[in-house]
Amino acid sequence: MGKKYDELMTYVEKMQALGMAEGLFDWDLETAAPPQAAALTAGVMGSLSSQYFEILTSPQVGGLIGQAAEEELDETQRAIVRELAKERDRLCRIPAQEYREYAQLTAGAAQVWARAKRDNDFASFAPTLAHIVEMSKKIAAYNKKEGQSTYDAMLWQYEEGFGQAVLDPFFALLREHIVPLLQRVMTEGKPVSIAPLRQSFAVDKQREFNRFLAEYVGFDFDRGVLAESEHPFTIGLHNHDVRITTHYYENLLESAMFSTIHESGHAVYEMNVDDALTLTPVAGGASCGMHESQSRLMENMIGRSPAFWEPLYPRLRELFAGELAGVSGEDFVRMINRVSPSLIRTEADELTYCLHVMIRYEIEKEMIDGSLDVRELPRVWNDKYEEYLGVRPVSDAEGVLQDIHWAQGSIGYFPSYALGNAFAAQIYRAMDRQIDIDGSLRRSDLAPVRAWLKEKIHRFGRVKPTAELLRDATGEDFNPQYYIDYLTEKFTGLYDLK
Ligand code: ZN
Repeated sequence: MGKKYDELMTYVEKMQALGMAEGLFDWDLETAAPPQAAALTAGVMGSLSSQYFEILTSPQVGGLIGQAAEEELDETQRAIVRELAKERDRLCRIPAQEYREYAQLTAGAAQVWARAKRDNDFASFAPTLAHIVEMSKKIAAYNKKEGQSTYDAMLWQYEEGFGQAVLDPFFALLREHIVPLLQRVMTEGKPVSIAPLRQSFAVDKQREFNRFLAEYVGFDFDRGVLAESEHPFTIGLHNHDVRITTHYYENLLESAMFSTIHESGHAVYEMNVDDALTLTPVAGGASCGMHESQSRLMENMIGRSPAFWEPLYPRLRELFAGELAGVSGEDFVRMINRVSPSLIRTEADELTYCLHVMIRYEIEKEMIDGSLDVRELPRVWNDKYEEYLGVRPVSDAEGVLQDIHWAQGSIGYFPSYALGNAFAAQIYRAMDRQIDIDGSLRRSDLAPVRAWLKEKIHRFGRVKPTAELLRDATGEDFNPQYYIDYLTEKFTGLYDLK
């Protein structure tokens, strides 16, 4: 092991400690802290994060990264140095003054956005958004690689290797196949009523079942916590302490269940990262999209399948004997897979979800290349919803103002949600060729599924970049056709389309 590498690790240890403390405060704010804690705690978190950045951008650490890279290192160590170099480079390219300005702008923008959404008043948010777009472009330009567009640089920040050259054909394929498939489901498919899932379901019983569900799909309660928060999320402090939340609604039985399975999918990924990587810069998932692939695979491909519910549904029906008396297992599976185009992305069903993301991609692209004036956003947004989903928002609150992402400066983030679904379909197909997934699910034995995912994906953490991880796990490069085939087969079957 190299001497400079060892010295570099003493700094990494401090950075990891700061990052973990920030994560723990974040968890606390979302789940347990009293309302008045927020402002002061946010200040403490800001201080922790600037100490982190100070260490990373310091000349000492810069020098050590360069020297360690020259030493003889194993694969994991090389990956650690690579990730540190990448993050440091990204931060150092941006002039400190501009970075601070941008951080202040986005910190304040969240409130402007929240007010505009509450008052259904896009015009009051438009100037702030225009400012964010301008500054994001400037900042992205510092990190632009040769031949890249500004939007590419933004996209790469979240999903390296997945710029417009990949995403344009990806979304074109979705548009070409999913938009007409949706129209057929809506016109030729028999409508599915989910009224039985809208009765009153005692929350304490839901809690009991959700805890069981999390454990069933592999969430290890010796290394994890399940709590409640407004919006479900996962936070991995390290692979022996992974925390997830869910949200219970008395009248929406399936909502908490699928949030729990989704977040458990994220958590199992974090828990299965090799112990040799714990508390290093490569301990988390490979990328946003790869992380999302693991939650979506668990939620949709496993968690909404008939084989999954075959042994489980009787248990759910026993718990809610009165409410679910007239609902067969087959009915239940049809209900949890119902297609219903809606205005809100986070409530979208599996088939329409990617169209919500596609709309945001098309808009971001034009917003960044300058062909779309921010003030035009509501009209363009509503037209696209009408064209692709057949629904038109009547207010901006349930239209262009629904997501917080742009106010936070996260332009280029949305596509990773759709990529995650497509990665999941490709991974699922590869796994299905090697093990009998449905057979395992029918036997209530998810161990083979988890073992396969751990071996092929999870254990590597961030050591392998996403494109390589996907290729090694599935035997081929990213291929979105698997996702199209999966959706087509699933929904023509469920809706009995010819
Ligand atoms: Zn997720």
